[in-house]
Amino acid sequence: MGTPLVEMDGDEMTRIIWSRIKEILITPYVDLKTEYYDLGLKKREETDDKITAQAAEATKKHGVAVKCATITPNAQRVEEYGLKQMWRSPNGTIRAILDGTVFRSPIVVESIKPSIRAWKKPITIARHAYGDVYKATEMQIKKPGKVELVYTPDDGEPIRELVQDFMESGVAMGMHNIDASISSFARACFSYALSTKQTIWFSTKDTILKKYDGRFKEIFEDIFNSEYKSKFESSGIEYFYTLIDDAVARAMRSDGGFIWACKNYDGDVMSDMVATAFGSLAMMTSVLVSPDGYFEYEAAHGTVTRHYYKHLEGEETSTNPIATIYAWTGALRKRGELDGIGELVRFAEKLERASIKTIESGIMTKDLFGLAEISGKRAVNTDEFLREIASGL
Ligand code: NAP
Ligand code: MG
Repeated sequence: MGTPLVEMDGDEMTRIIWSRIKEILITPYVDLKTEYYDLGLKKREETDDKITAQAAEATKKHGVAVKCATITPNAQRVEEYGLKQMWRSPNGTIRAILDGTVFRSPIVVESIKPSIRAWKKPITIARHAYGDVYKATEMQIKKPGKVELVYTPDDGEPIRELVQDFMESGVAMGMHNIDASISSFARACFSYALSTKQTIWFSTKDTILKKYDGRFKEIFEDIFNSEYKSKFESSGIEYFYTLIDDAVARAMRSDGGFIWACKNYDGDVMSDMVATAFGSLAMMTSVLVSPDGYFEYEAAHGTVTRHYYKHLEGEETSTNPIATIYAWTGALRKRGELDGIGELVRFAEKLERASIKTIESGIMTKDLFGLAEISGKRAVNTDEFLREIASGL
């Protein structure tokens, strides 16, 4: 390796798996270079959470990061760790600094059949992470009266639109989005499609929300035509816009292998549907892509607290390390591509293949045991599973 990966360590069970993956599957084969940031809650507390911002800044400097799952503090964690304050979600902090979009894709294994039979290849959901109903203002209407939308320009007269002239009780809501955020979302989507060589769809409901969703559609179209069209043509991939209901119908009939860009709420709903239909949360990868081309790879699941408490009591656990392994292979592959190190790219591919083949040979962690349609399957603990992958590798 030339340029280091930004390595962000984390918490609980995934922290333990993190060091085991490095020890068993990576350092014996790769002359690993990382710039290490400990985002474990203890260290965040010690540094007043400055470490998280430093790790994000380092990602801007080096370009590629790999992150372990971390605890997002709540009231119970404040007590458990004796925290000075309820520190922000590390992912939220990192996303705010890198201004990214999150892409989630399932890891597909032969013996675990998606509940949608037509799906053969992964479907990646790209979810816009700003605004809409997540930043809405709501109102319960108790008596007859008018609800209006009022926009007062800094230098002009207010503009009013009637939402509803209520004759009886009901509900109302106002929400917004920002051109700059929609534009970064579009760029992140198109860059990611190019970097993974997959066709991308974008869906909204612009037949109903002609101005709101229409603006999303327009921004995507403008950015595509002016910045990405020719690159897509030479990569042999496509971009198209379609209505959300049509996208759902097409997705169900498809065999997968594409990126589906969704507005915030649609992405929330669709990513849970896709993850569940493909099998297990422990098999979902996640990558944050910034419009400037920085990448941060991680597993989609959390720190697997329940398993960690068992581990602390000396019980053996069978926690699935696949998504965390894929965070590493994703980051190593990207580093290899950016630095022109073919061997690193091939190592990442081999490690992914060895991981999948281990499951397909019938050796797996407990979470997959119930899902896998294969005879003679065997559930093993995390360490045994990692060693089996190493021996396949
Ligand atoms: P979680 O860690 O994803 O675990 C929820 C449950 O899903 C587990 O108890 C386990 O089910 C199953 N599971 C998840 N990953 C698994 C794996 N690799 N192997 C086997 N089973 C797996 O979610 P959580 O318990 O709600 O959250 C725990 C902590 O993680 C919280 O402090 C939260 O803030 C944090 N979190 C961090 C991130 C992140 O850093 N990106 C994301 C989400 C949550 P069984 O118990 O039934 O075996
Ligand atoms: Mg959700």
